[in-house]
Amino acid sequence: MSGGVPSGGGVVCVLGTRPEAIKLAPVVLALAARGVVVTLCSTGQQRDLTRATLDDFGLVPNIDLDLMQPDQSPQAFVATALPLLGQTIARLAPAMVIVQGDTATTLAGAMAAAYACVPVAHVEAGLRSGTAEPFPEDMHRRVIAQLATHHFAPTQIAQAALVREGIAWGAISVTGNPVIDALRLAEARLGADAALRAGVDQVLPPLREGRAMVLVTAHRRENHVHMASIAEAVAAIAEAHDVDIVVPLHPNPASGAVLRGRLEQVTNVALVQPLGYLAFVTLLRRARLVLTDSGGVQEEAPAFGCPVLVLRDSTERPEGIEAGAARLVGTDPATIVAAVAGLITDDAVHAAMTTAILPYGDGYAADRIAAIVAAEIVRR
Ligand code: UDP
Repeated sequence: MSGGVPSGGGVVCVLGTRPEAIKLAPVVLALAARGVVVTLCSTGQQRDLTRATLDDFGLVPNIDLDLMQPDQSPQAFVATALPLLGQTIARLAPAMVIVQGDTATTLAGAMAAAYACVPVAHVEAGLRSGTAEPFPEDMHRRVIAQLATHHFAPTQIAQAALVREGIAWGAISVTGNPVIDALRLAEARLGADAALRAGVDQVLPPLREGRAMVLVTAHRRENHVHMASIAEAVAAIAEAHDVDIVVPLHPNPASGAVLRGRLEQVTNVALVQPLGYLAFVTLLRRARLVLTDSGGVQEEAPAFGCPVLVLRDSTERPEGIEAGAARLVGTDPATIVAAVAGLITDDAVHAAMTTAILPYGDGYAADRIAAIVAAEIVRR
């Protein structure tokens, strides 16, 4: 690394959205347990959700840039965030910057660190869908791979994708995905605290005794044009089966308006505001199946033996499909309705998608990442 390397020490974790908070929280806790000084810097891309999610892990951002503006494009966000993150990194002079995933915040954080000649660790490196979708996340991932110095790949498939793009073997560590560590932390908190469980139950929509529950989340940019089809499929499932359907809406209003318009009057569908992480985990544990286009939910549901129908035509998370825990069903209502019917009515079909394999990790990813980061910053 060349001349102008800052030398303040410690680590800056840059994050800005809910999934980044969920997946970086266990890493921050594991680093702190090893005595590493961590500065949590939030861009505020999803400000309130990020703060609420960090709070579920007992964390508070040390720096909150509060950058998001209504209807801001990813390019405008990156353009605003980049110089401010650059100033923050120059001031703190960390030994390493850690980013996670594929958002505009992740890209801006990695670029700001690279411009400052600070090593960049990328958590959840190497996810590739094989298409340009999801856009712009897939583009972000490829650029971040070129900027990062340490690539924490969740699986061997992700590792292989990085190697194919010319990333050196020695720079890649297969760690598992800390999303599973986050689930375990959430379960431990809920398991140990009856008052917390009771509080969580109060924010959940009422579920009828003895009825199966289907959980639905849909928000991806690529699906905004398909939201009416997804809403149609959910309405048809609600009519065909005596089930409770819960749809936590995404903070992005583009997806919520169509779902609300079609499903608000359907009696066995509960549309709810974005749930806190502990509440969402509680629902996921109870769900008979989940319909989703979310990346994190594809990773979490198999850990609960909950079948996943992916509302997309491709995924950068093929491990769940290979394990038999997930299926791509796209957004055509007839295809979705047919796939759901078997999972609701036929226990054998359901059992076939309930895998004991944990495709995304064993719950110790964060400690593996922290061990490597701690050793690396001491070495420098
Ligand atoms: N999640 C949550 N509340 C909700 C819906 C989802 O806490 O109402 C969590 C979920 O557990 C998962 C993450 O948010 O870990 C997924 O976030 P999102 O779907 O926004 O992003 P993606 O994973 O697609 O990047």
